[in-house]
Amino acid sequence: MNPAFRIIPPEGIPVPVVFDSPHSGSIYPEDFDHILDPMLLRQAEDAHIEELFAPVTSLGAPLLHALFPRSYIDPNRSDLDLDVTMIDGDWDGPVQPSSKTLNRGAGLIWRRMRGEGEMYDRPLTIFEVRHRIETCWRPYHEALASLIDAAHARHGVCYHIDCHSMPAMGDANSEDGPVARPDFIIGDRDGTTCEPALTTLIADHLRGEGYDVAINDPYKGVELVRRYADPSAGRHSVQLEINRKLFMDEATLAKTPGILDLEHVLSRLNHAIVTHAKAAAR
Ligand SMILES: [Zn+2]
Repeated sequence: MNPAFRIIPPEGIPVPVVFDSPHSGSIYPEDFDHILDPMLLRQAEDAHIEELFAPVTSLGAPLLHALFPRSYIDPNRSDLDLDVTMIDGDWDGPVQPSSKTLNRGAGLIWRRMRGEGEMYDRPLTIFEVRHRIETCWRPYHEALASLIDAAHARHGVCYHIDCHSMPAMGDANSEDGPVARPDFIIGDRDGTTCEPALTTLIADHLRGEGYDVAINDPYKGVELVRRYADPSAGRHSVQLEINRKLFMDEATLAKTPGILDLEHVLSRLNHAIVTHAKAAAR
């Protein structure tokens, strides 16, 4: 069994910031048993995101990243967000499927891959679903919760940056439809998962560097920013979506020269976030 995640520990004096990359995993488990073209499935990865954020460890922040692919099980969904009609037998736990799950097949365990059809040619067994939750979803969540708790215990605050990438264009199956996306989208679930100052800092910083930035439109952030956030208690979580056109070829997943500029942009942005977080720490 492969480990579910990796934590790159901080260097030097720890700061009250935690970064996570939940969708960049590319170790495909042997029991996946999907029927799609593997390269097509790989386009669901947030490729290179863990590498783009790895330098944050030199600023004193840990980076958690998933090793399993999000198409196997998505850590950015609630463990209740299940479509039980994909499962053979009676699932005996509580479920709370979201509209994304019911309408687009993109829940905790995907039923469909965007416009590309069904993921499986058979229902999954109860054992398979439990196994994915217990060996991937839960360890990832426990790791993130303990990093956030440790930073909060030490500093009295924690700033959690949940890092993602998005295709350059939406499509008929996405929230926004077939339109070109901005360079960055910041999601704080309409102002509920972090203090407004954090969202403003990130938006202003990126706009100041000439980028096109949207806030909560269409991506507001999902389970990873929702679950651990409590801004009134100093627990701030925000989702950052980076447009893939800035650093990679979406068909081949190969990096493009733009990644060099992006590395510098993220270095300056992450420095600004860390400076802000240190000022808020006790
Ligand atoms: Zn993602």
